[in-house]
Amino acid sequence: MKAGLYFHIPFCIRKCRYCSFNSIPYDKELAGKYVSALLNEMNLRGGVEPSSVYIGGGTPTVLPMESLRIILEGIEKHFNPAAGTEITIEVNPGTLGGIDFAALKAIGVNRVSLGAQSFNPKELLALGRIHGPGEITRAVNTLREAVIANIGLDLIYSLPGQEAVQWEKSLEEAIKLSPEHISLYGLSIEEGTEFHVMEKVGRITLPPEDTQVEMYLYAVNRLEEAGYGRYEISNFARPGYECLHNLNYWSAGDFAGLGAGAHSRAGNRAARNVSGVNEYIWKLENGEDPCATEEILSDREREREFIMLGLRKRRGFSFEDFRAGFGADFMSKYGPTAMKMTDAGYMSTNPGGVCLTMKGVLASNRVIMEFF
Ligand code: SF4
Repeated sequence: MKAGLYFHIPFCIRKCRYCSFNSIPYDKELAGKYVSALLNEMNLRGGVEPSSVYIGGGTPTVLPMESLRIILEGIEKHFNPAAGTEITIEVNPGTLGGIDFAALKAIGVNRVSLGAQSFNPKELLALGRIHGPGEITRAVNTLREAVIANIGLDLIYSLPGQEAVQWEKSLEEAIKLSPEHISLYGLSIEEGTEFHVMEKVGRITLPPEDTQVEMYLYAVNRLEEAGYGRYEISNFARPGYECLHNLNYWSAGDFAGLGAGAHSRAGNRAARNVSGVNEYIWKLENGEDPCATEEILSDREREREFIMLGLRKRRGFSFEDFRAGFGADFMSKYGPTAMKMTDAGYMSTNPGGVCLTMKGVLASNRVIMEFF
């Protein structure tokens, strides 16, 4: 089975205030057991032919170099990625100490996704990040010295109290570092985070919606001017550097997730691993499959997912791909809604497929809901 392979490393130095990901504080002993469990899970999931590999978290680079080497060698042994397969590792600029990127490159890593988030020291502090702006620059220099030719930077906008001018400065700093890829995430406050509590008691508020839209539109224009094409609502790349792993998700392709809480999808089968790190380790130490839930999606659910994800891509999706996935003609099933959205300026419909216009991007959730 061809699929994007994802490995979840659920450890971080400390929890960022906005973070709702499955992550816990790093503990050397627990992390050692986790890496062994991950290898056991690789043993169970043989037979996947990786279209891409992504090691994310959490903070993979909180692990010692030796553990990263063991994981990458395990991937090589169990999944044998073809030469040139995109292999990404997420890097926190505050955890570069013991990592030898030239060695990681020698064992397959060819793309790094760097969680920069902001270049403003006060904003980084308020987010609870463990690094300042200087460490982001040092990280990019270190990666370039190791001849990593594909670097992605993640940024967050619409931070509490942030004004457009501060966001524009962060964006300029990011462009100056000349990464191949830039992702922009508008902050949303999730339940269970420190920010959620702070918002409830009135300690923080997000900028008004029109400021958020202004920040996004500024970034789209500035990035396109700087040579970064928008290929997904939040993702921009220099030509040829689009993230293949994420494109597979947005194209509703199959993926296999390994690690605590990781999700998998193969055709209409959706599965999720147990999310607790101790439970995950325990199951694999005892020869059990860490899968917690498994469900068979209906055609309707899969169509919904295909439309929702496909419309995130700038090129949208083709009628041919819809037919290949569902054996049906998209316009026969959804034509009236597609035409209504097109007439209202939210979508562009052509003989081959559909995509969102910029007006549609700004109202993407509402547009997608119209189809269901
Ligand atoms: S480094 Fe990433 S995963 Fe870890 S707490 Fe911060 S946002 Fe969450």
